[in-house]
Amino acid sequence: MKVYKFGGASIKDVEAVKNVLTVLKQTQDTRLLIVISAMGKTTNALEKVVDAYLNNPSLLESSIFEVQNYHANIASQLFQKNHSIFTKISALFAELNTFLKTNKSTNKNFVYDQIVPYGELLSTTLIYYFLKENNFPVKFLDARECLVTNSQYREAEINWEQTCHAIKSKNLQNSITLTQGFIAAEPEHHFNTTLGREGSDYTAAIFAYCLNAQSVTIWKDVPGVLNADPRHFKNPILLHHISYKEAIELAFYGASVIHPKTLQPLQRKEIPLYVKSFQNPQAKGTCVGKGITLQPEVSCFILKKNQVLISVSSLDFSFITEHHISYIFDLLHRYKMKVNLIQNSAISFSVCIDNKFNHLPELLQKLTEQFKVRWNEGVTLYTVRHSTPLEIKSLLKNKEMLLKQESRETIQVVVKEA
Ligand code: ADP
Ligand code: ASP
Ligand code: MG
Repeated sequence: MKVYKFGGASIKDVEAVKNVLTVLKQTQDTRLLIVISAMGKTTNALEKVVDAYLNNPSLLESSIFEVQNYHANIASQLFQKNHSIFTKISALFAELNTFLKTNKSTNKNFVYDQIVPYGELLSTTLIYYFLKENNFPVKFLDARECLVTNSQYREAEINWEQTCHAIKSKNLQNSITLTQGFIAAEPEHHFNTTLGREGSDYTAAIFAYCLNAQSVTIWKDVPGVLNADPRHFKNPILLHHISYKEAIELAFYGASVIHPKTLQPLQRKEIPLYVKSFQNPQAKGTCVGKGITLQPEVSCFILKKNQVLISVSSLDFSFITEHHISYIFDLLHRYKMKVNLIQNSAISFSVCIDNKFNHLPELLQKLTEQFKVRWNEGVTLYTVRHSTPLEIKSLLKNKEMLLKQESRETIQVVVKEA
């Protein structure tokens, strides 16, 4: 059995949805679990709904309308006017509205997880009926019946034992099933949870692990994993083979084509991950698996924009020691800062962080109570694996370097773009 995952870009409009059917027909796999994420930028649009609901009620109606209109527009081009899909879509919006009316919680992460999953519920409903309409034999599975997590809303952690048990009980092995990526549920009250942004790749890996799948294929708008993000680097090179270890490093440092949590479950069971183009399904793409580190052997460039570089030093000229560092990390953890790089010297300690949940002002306030703090917002972190000195020199051209760190395989630089 194989697992496929189609992400937002692969289902962003009518043509893209039709192409999913083409890909499925071409590959001719009949034992499949298909994971689908929300269409196009729907998750971002639903984040606006959450924001309007909690902070700006005057924008609530229009933000919901944007999501509704987008899906209705696609559905109206794929189905006849009187098709039951329209009732199904209306029912999902009615359910969402009921939540918005009856909810009493002000916990943003909880509210987020009750609203944002409608992106995946809408996309899978629409694509399920589209495939059926076109005589493609597929079953529908609500992922929330299988993926069991804790209640850490927006970053829920999988309970592997219960999840594998639930997945196995569904007998998915001999047919084609369609389900949602990214969404899960907690077992106590059955509230929705989510696995973190871009988490659908991870959902595919979870199903593959529990089903002992033969492979996972994630269908993307790129030919495979490239040695650099094509949005930011010219002429990137397609990587044909990447070892699990190297791919974990690349994803960890921010090669956003694969969600970082995806690879470890696959590595455990040696399940290969194929990254392929949905525009060119016959092309080989990239295989992440056992064996050689990188084929071809080239440098890989990863860029993370919009980082914050913070440097702290003591107020009384003393050294930055373990107990200071432990206090700083406690704050970073409390404010959910994702740390991408750390560097310390005798009198200062620097971290490059992602201000993912917008708690920077609170963090800075706490830090300035105890330390002298300098910070730079909007800086870029470049990570280069297996690089040559010449490449680094050319990368740094016209950029102001704020910090550099080098290990055997990896060079990281934090820069201010000119
Ligand atoms: P999905 O449609 O599954 O959500 P994503 O947008 O998450 O797909 O991932 C595909 C995108 O990842 C590409 O369009 C590309 O811009 C970006 N990307 C970043 N780094 C790389 C890389 N090293 N190789 C290929 N694509 C990359
Ligand atoms: N729809 C979710 C997101 O955009 C999950 C995913 O696409 O992987 O983050
Ligand atoms: Mg994505």
